[in-house]
Amino acid sequence: LPKSIGWIGLGLMGNPMIRNLLKKVSEDTQFYIHDVVRESVERLVEEGNGRVHACESSVEVADKSDLIISMLPEGRHVKSVYLDEKSGVLASTSLQNKTLIDCSTIDTASSLAVRDACQSHSNSLTLNFYDAPVSGGVVGAEKGTLTFMLGCSATDPNITFLTTLLSLMGGNIFPCGGASLGLTAKLCNNYCSGLIAIAVSESLNIGIKSGMDPRILANVFHTSTAQSAICDDWCPVPGLTPSAPASNHYAGGFRVELMKKDFALAVDTAERVGAQLALGREGLGVYEGASADERCKGLDSRVVYKFLGGEEE
Ligand code: NAD
Repeated sequence: LPKSIGWIGLGLMGNPMIRNLLKKVSEDTQFYIHDVVRESVERLVEEGNGRVHACESSVEVADKSDLIISMLPEGRHVKSVYLDEKSGVLASTSLQNKTLIDCSTIDTASSLAVRDACQSHSNSLTLNFYDAPVSGGVVGAEKGTLTFMLGCSATDPNITFLTTLLSLMGGNIFPCGGASLGLTAKLCNNYCSGLIAIAVSESLNIGIKSGMDPRILANVFHTSTAQSAICDDWCPVPGLTPSAPASNHYAGGFRVELMKKDFALAVDTAERVGAQLALGREGLGVYEGASADERCKGLDSRVVYKFLGGEEE
């Protein structure tokens, strides 16, 4: 692994991810970090035992690191971090042989725009950009068990390096076939799990309103065709899965606003590629409504159970 690693974006996910790298890479590896929130940078520098260095901009991170990883909210942030003429990664004059990995969940068009810009640079030097979004949430980031969906083929010349690196933060690494297909995989997964959360919420509520104990119904689902990880491990009805956010007032987990963002990106992608969706607009309406609802804002996305009329016991 390179002796200098750059990191841009130290939020809920980025912070625990880089901490795993700090623990697992050799002691002489230096880290160069940047976030627009200074306190996030300073905290990590203080805890880094001299191995973590603050940078004022993304271009400074790029100047000082051989590998750069970013974990940012949306496409516009990723574009500005990489493409800004003065402060962006590509403004660096020392990009030869560098690898850039963006782990953010963003639209494929923004990711491909950054990749294309890297390829134009690559006429004269070797510069590789990969999309590598993750699944597993903050808990997976802390435990180092994230699933990485990597935007390249299994025969990519860098695959061994990428797998070795990402394994330090994750349990499963899937090369998804080509540029931006890591993002496609991530958006398909969240579209599916978002719809399942709605289906589990609505169907358990039919049982509850009919006078049925939802525990019995969830057990029926578990051994029947409605079995799903959402019902078993992340049940939207409070009290059914003790470890699920729903059983702790929907605290933690995957914020409903992030599900709204990812769901919208999936619907946009479907429209762009001509994939028919019967429930895309309806599902998006549910997550938009829940994100704007005072009872649901900022909570785990499975709070759609409440938004859809489910009652807490
Ligand atoms: P976050 O908002 O907590 O963190 C993003 C960080 O990026 C913040 O610290 C912010 O200050 C920083 N940032 C924004 N613009 C910047 C810029 N121009 N330069 C430098 N830093 C900048 O978000 P998060 O929860 O860590 O999520 C990051 C990405 O991962 C999102 O795309 C999200 O959808 C995805 N994701 C999140 C989860 C989750 O459970 N939170 C799970 C899987 C994937």
